[in-house]
Amino acid sequence: MSVWDFANANLRNLHVYEPGKPIEEVAREFGLDPRTIVKLASNENPLGPSPAAVEAMKLAAHRMHIYPDGASFELATAIAKQQGVAYNNLILGNGSNEIIEFVYHGFTRRGKSSVVASRHSFAVYKLMAELFDVEFIEAPDQNFAHDLDAMRAAVRDDTRLIFVTNPNNPTGTRVGNEELERFIVGVPKNIVIVLDEAYYEFCHNPPPTLEWIRRGHNIVATRTFSKIQGLAGLRIGYGLANADLIGVLQRCRQPFNLNGMAQAAALAAVGDTGHARRTRELTFAGLARLEQFAREHGLASVPSHANFMMLNVGDARRVFGALQQRGVIVRSMRSYGLPEWIRVTIGTPPEMAKFERALLEVM
Ligand SMILES: *Cc1c(COP(=O)(O)O)cnc(C)c1O
Repeated sequence: MSVWDFANANLRNLHVYEPGKPIEEVAREFGLDPRTIVKLASNENPLGPSPAAVEAMKLAAHRMHIYPDGASFELATAIAKQQGVAYNNLILGNGSNEIIEFVYHGFTRRGKSSVVASRHSFAVYKLMAELFDVEFIEAPDQNFAHDLDAMRAAVRDDTRLIFVTNPNNPTGTRVGNEELERFIVGVPKNIVIVLDEAYYEFCHNPPPTLEWIRRGHNIVATRTFSKIQGLAGLRIGYGLANADLIGVLQRCRQPFNLNGMAQAAALAAVGDTGHARRTRELTFAGLARLEQFAREHGLASVPSHANFMMLNVGDARRVFGALQQRGVIVRSMRSYGLPEWIRVTIGTPPEMAKFERALLEVM
């Protein structure tokens, strides 16, 4: 008898999330000095964490024998103030990925619910659907962007969640604010709309998400410290929603889901608006430069509203491997069903120059 005979059957065929390849792994595999490797694979912040967050962590290190504040009161209060919402409109998570898990816990039932997401969208929604034994309905997209009409049409009576990734990962596209508002108003009230806003801070003319939440729509907006704040390693994200919805999600979490180091760092990062501004400026300049590079060399690209861009390189798997040999890690879009495309995170100007040189060599 094997444990698999009595384990949850849906775990057997679970897809595994493919993260960006770690620098140390590429160094070992290709015999490279890890310090020379450039990782443009996980949409991380090339400026690193906010220096204020690093200082806060050094001080916090001496208090790590104490359990963290389970309510993350100071941090939650600071984020609520920054966002202009009440304390009970907010829930913190071990990365915004954990908020996605809370939403599944709170609103789906094993074998009885379905969720809707777009094709070419964030892989985690589907993995969670498998984990929770919930049917995953993938609506077609259009020119790499969400097709909200198709998503609305995919909704069934048993649909409990809809995921709108805005801007979208991996494509970098976004939906228009008016179009999204019409969609939100039209969705049945017994469905929670998850607006995954991991790249919200990179948007020009961002959607009025909080206004929609204030009007009482059943929206959970997820945000993260992993991208604009450069704290991906600490795992800090949050969800914004009406107080009733937050009440449901709070019951889905463990008492100490945010560790003390993360709370200290994030609190300092909230106050460091300069770091966020420098990150945006570097990203916008890098996107413009990469678009120009693609044009000059006849590579198709998808205009991006986030801190990364997709490029058509013909054979993503080959280029992905050849770039690694030259010390550059990007993401192949093969597993997303886009075998010609790679996704490149915007790095510092020297990192981008290294990527461009390497790509021209291997193309
Ligand atoms: C990076 C990313 C996240 C962030 O996940 P964390 O758990 O906060 O690190 C969430 N959604 C999308 C679409 C992302 O690209």
